[in-house]
Amino acid sequence: MSRIQGNTFIAEPQPAEKCELCGKISELRPYGEHGENICFQCGMENEEATKFVFGNLIKDVKTVVRNDREITVLVLPNVLQEGKNE
Ligand SMILES: [Zn+2]
Repeated sequence: MSRIQGNTFIAEPQPAEKCELCGKISELRPYGEHGENICFQCGMENEEATKFVFGNLIKDVKTVVRNDREITVLVLPNVLQEGKNE
């Protein structure tokens, strides 16, 4: 299960579970407006809220670890900047 420890985001594969909004069995993320575990489709239905929650979750993250390798956080700020560029 992906988790955040201090400044590090540890990305791990996640087993499919029941979405807390639509009930679909899918890979979930804790990006619901009120912290619910939700599927990708539900996240996209309320994209602004999802981005806001995601941004809050990762605001202190400096490092991403995936498959035991450290990745510098270059992608995440771009996600947050999306839509602010105009
Ligand atoms: Zn859902």
